[in-house]
This record gives sequence, C-alpha cells and structure tokens, in this order.
Amino acid sequence: MDVMLQKEECPKVTFTPPLYKQRYQFIKQLVSKHKPKKVADLGCADCMLLWMLKFCNCIEVLVGLDISEDVLKEKMHKLSPLPGDYLQPSERSLTIILYQGSVALKDPCMLGFDMITCIELIEHLEANVLEKFQEVVFGFMSPTMIIISTPNSEFNPLLPTVTLFRHPDHKFEWNRSQFQNWAQETAARYNYTVEFTGLGIPPPGKDVGFCTQIGVFVRKCIKHVEATRSEKYQDHVYKIVFKAVYPSLKEEKYLQNAVVNEVVWTAQIIASELLDHRKSEYKKHCGDCVETESRFKPRNSFLKYLEYPSILEPNNKNMEPFINGNTVSIPLAKIFSFPKVKQLCGNFETLSKFITGKIALSSDGSAVLIDTEYENEGHNYY
Ligand code: SAM
Repeated sequence: MDVMLQKEECPKVTFTPPLYKQRYQFIKQLVSKHKPKKVADLGCADCMLLWMLKFCNCIEVLVGLDISEDVLKEKMHKLSPLPGDYLQPSERSLTIILYQGSVALKDPCMLGFDMITCIELIEHLEANVLEKFQEVVFGFMSPTMIIISTPNSEFNPLLPTVTLFRHPDHKFEWNRSQFQNWAQETAARYNYTVEFTGLGIPPPGKDVGFCTQIGVFVRKCIKHVEATRSEKYQDHVYKIVFKAVYPSLKEEKYLQNAVVNEVVWTAQIIASELLDHRKSEYKKHCGDCVETESRFKPRNSFLKYLEYPSILEPNNKNMEPFINGNTVSIPLAKIFSFPKVKQLCGNFETLSKFITGKIALSSDGSAVLIDTEYENEGHNYY
C-alpha cells in the first residue's frame, strides 16, 4: 500500500488504494482465513462491504444493520441475485438480509454469528449508546469474532483537510492508548481476547501509529447459549429492509433443473458421437458418401468428453447406446457414469426421479431417448 507525502515542509498523506478499500480488503482476508458462515456488518451504510463479502463462498448468511433506512436503500439492489445466479445456481446457499435498527438494541436475529464487523462505527455513537453497544455486541450477540475499526486521532495532523475530527458526525476520535484501554476492558469484561493492528502506515519518522486502528476480538469460550437467549428475547426490534435468498443447488427445484440440463447435454453429446461414428463406418464401407455434414453439430466442449470411455466400447452391453430408426437410446446407467451427473445426483434413484416427466425416456424408464430428427432444434427437452 502506497503512502504519498504531499508537501515537504508539512507532510500530509493520502493512501493508495484509499483507506476504506484497504479496510474492506482486510475483512475479506480475515474471512478467507477463518471461513465464517454467518457474518454481520454493523453500521453497514451503503452495503459496500457486504457486496464484496457476498462473493466469499464460505458465507451462507450475510446481514447488514444500520440505523439509517435511507442509506441502506441507496445501493441495496446490488445485493440481489443476478440472472447468472439463476442460470448456474451455486452449491452453497446464501441469504442476505438488511435490517434497520440500532446497535444499542437487542434483537434475536443477531444471535449465532461467526463474525461481526464494525467498520468506522463506534466513533459515531454517543457515550450512552457506546456503553449499550458493548453489552449488545459482546454480551448479547456474542459472536466468535468481532472486528472494530476506528480513526486514530494521533494520525490526524498528517491528513489534509482534517481539523478537529475526520467527519462532522464523529462524537469522538481516540488515540492509540484510549482505544486499546477501551478494547482491553471490554474484552476482559465479556471474555474475549483482543489483538491490535491497523491500516495506513505513517511516513518514515512519524511515530503516530496507523491511520485506522483495528481491534480483532476473539471469544475465549465456545458458548451455546443462543437457544436460551432467543427464548428470552423473542421480540424483533429491527425492521427488515431487504432480503434475498440466492438460488442454490441445496434447494431441490434448482438441483433438479441442473440435473435435467446436464442429462440432456450429456445425452446429446453421446448421441452425436454415436452418429458420427456410424457415419464414418458407413463411409469406410461405402466409399463415397453423399452426406458430408454431421446431423449433429458437435459443440465446443465436445472434446472434454473424449476423456471418458468411448461410448462404443462393447465391454458392457447395458451401457451401450443404440440407434432405432430416428431415435438414439442412451441407457441411464451410461449417463450416470459421467462424473458431473453423478456428482449432482449422488445416486441412481435420484437421477431417475429428477428426470422422469422432464425428459423423453424409454417405456421402462431405463434410457434417455434422443430424436435425431429434432435434436438439432433442441426439441427433446420438454
Ligand atoms: N461501515 C461503513 C463503511 O465502512 O463504509 C460506513 C460506516 S459510516 C462511517 C457509520 C454508519 O453507522 C452510518 O451509516 C450510520 O448510519 C451508522 N450508525 C450510526 N449510529 C448507529 C447505530 N446506533 N446503530 C446502527 N448504525 C448506526
């Protein structure tokens, strides 16, 4: 990370990338390292951090809380699933919820989190709210890990344009020892450890500490008190402003869709290979053949199927596809032998169940039927 001196005589610094991006990156790195499933960002404002975190595959529940509904609504649509998420649902489940509410209030929806982030939040809280914040976040929510960042006032003289505080809404800005004393007291009271770090290094010779100071708190004991707490605090005081449940293969309707697509695709590749093989055999025997083009156009990813045993291997009769008139019949057992199909379905019964009624099958349901007349127009899939 670069730090740039602006003037020789009175050095003022700027950061590249900007410090707010460095803070988000810091959280992303912690998420990559600790792989939390449930993450909440308190004082999430316009949800930029949440948006970055939605791409972290370990996270299944992502929650944002802010006292301002307006600021939440500014960019919340960026957290909605995109068309691509429906076309190719992910293996993981992901739910994103935004709440309007205050960190001074207890709501059972905030129980059971692995990680809670409070980025540049505490300096916006009045003293009485900050006191409640400690009890609510550390005592009640009590997640496995809490990350708190706040400005380090010792750095302010090096920042251009800063006079008293860095932002007019700040109620205080602490120096290093003020923040560390508060953090250590809080950690001791609520049974956490705390380690300090920061972002934005000062220029050489300026012993003022990081521009942003950060405390990483880790809960000492593994508590399982969520059940009793949610019994005691049943009233929801936060208001849901946004909720998105992402399509996931964990949901049967999406899994079934993915299986049907994969089976149709696999069957078409097998049929295409069989017909091409027949045609070349025919050419060998008949010399000049009138037909010059395959009726099935091999697709780009055709090559990837070459790594699987040839469909024409005669070692297992039940696995062999065959042509009957205009129809290619491909045993389900053959289709199930393809790794992607097997991985999606898990077992043969699930494969049968998912495709019955969705794909043309033989009368006993043991083979997928591809109509060579209509195959190129994709009419087999109904
Ligand atoms: N965390 C965001 C980030 O890093 O980009 C922005 C933090 S912004 C400086 C502080 C946010 O805290 C504001 O969006 C404000 O509405 C919110 N806030 C202030 N008091 C709050 C409270 N009591 N409970 C929840 N959010 C609060």
